[in-house]
Amino acid sequence: MFLCRYEMGSGPQYGVINEGKVYRLNGDPFDVHAVIGAYEVDLAEVRLLPPTVPSKIICVGRNYVDHAKELGNDLPAEPLLFFKPPSALIGPGVSIAILPIMGEVHHEAELAVVIGKQGRFISEDSALEYVRGYTCANDVSDRDFQRKDGQWTRAKGFDTFLPLGPWMSTSVDSLDLSIRCEVNGEVRQDARTSLLVFSIPMLIAHISTIMTLEPGDVILTGTPAGVGRIIPGDMVRVTIEGIGTLENPVAKRVS
Ligand code: ZN
Repeated sequence: MFLCRYEMGSGPQYGVINEGKVYRLNGDPFDVHAVIGAYEVDLAEVRLLPPTVPSKIICVGRNYVDHAKELGNDLPAEPLLFFKPPSALIGPGVSIAILPIMGEVHHEAELAVVIGKQGRFISEDSALEYVRGYTCANDVSDRDFQRKDGQWTRAKGFDTFLPLGPWMSTSVDSLDLSIRCEVNGEVRQDARTSLLVFSIPMLIAHISTIMTLEPGDVILTGTPAGVGRIIPGDMVRVTIEGIGTLENPVAKRVS
């Protein structure tokens, strides 16, 4: 099943996508009592929003061997975690904003996990029961600030630095999916989720020893090799098998 969040002029709604049509979800995707309502509108006519409203976004650095190597880093012995703020989120089609103060800004295609129910000290064996679905993410990063600052809050935390969507797939098996990033039609990243160093169940178990995971929370699982610069005028597309394509233009913004 594909679940989306969308806007039609009367505030954000959740919906279920079936054969190009959106059916309104009465309730939210994290409510077990939510029921699928009537046909609402054609998918092409809605403005899609990020498919979840997370309380937090936990990101994993250096979780593909080839990407750690390309930036000259060793693989971490344990998952390397950082946050992106919810204010960085944008939906499909919204521009990634490049400000004059920024340096070298990169795309990072990532598989995003959306948590479905509250959990702490989750075991690896039961971890996938806490997943509501999967979506595409672009962990946009300013490499100059990342190198300069010990913490990555500035490098990773600008508004618009987290395109997420276009919707969430609840039925895909995340173990071995193709993940790609194209910039202006040129393939920059092309890998498989089977190459993750720390698996999704392992990440959920590990993170939940630190903090309570809440419904709607997002885990970005790391980016494969092939990251590179994006500049105003570019079009970035992240495609994950069984989910879809997340497309965002890049634009200059003065203030
Ligand atoms: Zn990343």
